[in-house]
Amino acid sequence: MTDALPPETLRAITDARVFEISWPDGKSFRVPFKLVRSECPCAQCIDEITGVRVLRPESIPDDICPVELGYSGNYALKILWSDAHSSGIFTWERLRRISELTQT
Ligand SMILES: [Zn+2]
Repeated sequence: MTDALPPETLRAITDARVFEISWPDGKSFRVPFKLVRSECPCAQCIDEITGVRVLRPESIPDDICPVELGYSGNYALKILWSDAHSSGIFTWERLRRISELTQT
């Protein structure tokens, strides 16, 4: 796992249901809340033994949004979601990877 630098800016735009994330290399992304929620890496969303995602994307409400953002040290973002889920830790590396998903 490489050390990813933290984003320069990260803000939630509730009207558009996206995170606007700018990275130190100058790239910025608008990443839908629902995409980030669906990529949650926690043990409830991914089977710890098999690594298979057990969270079904269709089970996520379309109006999902972050209620509270917090930091875990300086390496990750913690998100409390409107569906009361909060156990995912999004490392910068993971968040960057999720950001890149919007480019395909
Ligand atoms: Zn989760």
